[in-house]
Amino acid sequence: MSRYIFVTGGVVSSLGKGVSAASLGALLQSRGYSVHVRKFDPYLNVDPGTMSPFQHGEVYVTNDGFETDLDLGYYERFLGVKLSRNDSVSGGRIYWDVLNAERHGDYLGATVQMIPHVTNKIKEYIGRPTDTDFVICEIGGTVGDIEGTIFLESIRQFANDIGRKNVMFMHLTLAPYLEQSGELKTKPTQMSVRRLLESGIQADMLFVRSPRMLTDDERAKIGMFCNLPATNVITSMNVDNIYKIPLVYESQKVFDIMAGHFGLPAIAGDMSKLQRIEKYLDADLPTCTIGVVGKYFDVPDAYKSLNEALFHAGIQNNVHVKIKKINAETFSADDCADVDGILVPGGFGTRGVEGKIAAAGYARTHNIPYMGICLGMQVAVIDFMRNVVGIKNADSTEFSKNCTPVVGIMSDCDKADMGGTLRLGAYPCNIKPGTLAEKIYGASQISERHRHRYEVDIKYKDGMEKHGMIVSGLSPDGKLPEMVEIPSHKFFIAGQFHPEFQSNPFDGHPMFNAFIAAAKNK
Ligand code: GLN
Repeated sequence: MSRYIFVTGGVVSSLGKGVSAASLGALLQSRGYSVHVRKFDPYLNVDPGTMSPFQHGEVYVTNDGFETDLDLGYYERFLGVKLSRNDSVSGGRIYWDVLNAERHGDYLGATVQMIPHVTNKIKEYIGRPTDTDFVICEIGGTVGDIEGTIFLESIRQFANDIGRKNVMFMHLTLAPYLEQSGELKTKPTQMSVRRLLESGIQADMLFVRSPRMLTDDERAKIGMFCNLPATNVITSMNVDNIYKIPLVYESQKVFDIMAGHFGLPAIAGDMSKLQRIEKYLDADLPTCTIGVVGKYFDVPDAYKSLNEALFHAGIQNNVHVKIKKINAETFSADDCADVDGILVPGGFGTRGVEGKIAAAGYARTHNIPYMGICLGMQVAVIDFMRNVVGIKNADSTEFSKNCTPVVGIMSDCDKADMGGTLRLGAYPCNIKPGTLAEKIYGASQISERHRHRYEVDIKYKDGMEKHGMIVSGLSPDGKLPEMVEIPSHKFFIAGQFHPEFQSNPFDGHPMFNAFIAAAKNK
């Protein structure tokens, strides 16, 4: 049976519960334990797919095609775990399940209640079997939120069900610093822990977000008010990069405290992977500038996974990657004067698309390393068809009705039954031997995640290839171009998928690694 770690947050939101939870997982993994992660969001949306990216940042896509928020990305990147739709569960989904079961007659006429019916449903998702030593569950929101209360009740019950020794409650709080008096205030933490106690949950460890390390006196004071040994009060210090957090926890012996609780040996961990990142961050290295031609720059975290993947590839290549945000709507050649590589990321809608087509064309004609992601592949094909093959009105049916539709919704393919809906999640792609794609991936078949509606029309493949842009990746049925490249160019490659969702800081991702290597040598 897996042991469980529940992570809750108090005082304010946005304390970095996800990163803290992932960091606890990293400490366990460094000792050879396997972990799985789940996120519970008390809000009433049935899934995050309908939530505005303006509120929630990028839409992250899992292998099984679930559109979720970017927290799951943290977990996959940090811990190398592969999550699914059952690992991101909202309050809305719980009530949806319960009410559907009620309509279906599953409760056999019983009065359907918050306890036990809703709590049992929550516990069912928490307890779904995994083959890992630990399951870390993050409870979204802030302790005291009305919609979160039923989740707290559920984890209280869950601990009672499987035995308190098999569960740890980790609570994140904030200690605000008052400049005038030079004091770190502990009262909000005390109040938050008390609030948690009202739900019958005694925190086993506190992670106190603070601009500096808590002193021993401060830890003792918090411990005294909150029913904890001072050793279990940990400083979650503000750091300049999230990958330093596990090391901050390691230095405060967080694993040893967990081991003590769970009755595990207090062995040393192998932190070398994270230490390497720390060393890289602090190293004086050359900079490589990548122009990202996009349009969602006002939305915080809209390109979260993309930025991460570029950062990861910088680690692999020993350069610091600087991202130059280039607004697609006002794109001009001057924007590319100082870039070492051009990347056109995913995107939807007509706004800015001509700028993206021009950017792909600029990279093509100036031999600047180019990487296209999803829409970034479609615009590369449109530019090539217009300006090399000579089909002047080549376009995507997403942007123009009166065009030669080199990109459109394909009816004669496996996804015909999906109608006009998005192609979501992991799909296989066969790689053509002897191509850059093969050199990059070192494999004949890969699996990457998709989130798009339109496809490059296979019927233009021969014409394109005759003129020098080849299809180097294809869906196994041979009907959907998945990758294109220009062999005569220094580095020009694009994929219909989103490789950034599978990048991690320890290995990077083959396509990003190769792109940054090419840009670095420019
Ligand atoms: N808008 C394009 C499509 O739907 C590309 C989507 C994307 O870049 N993720 O196919």
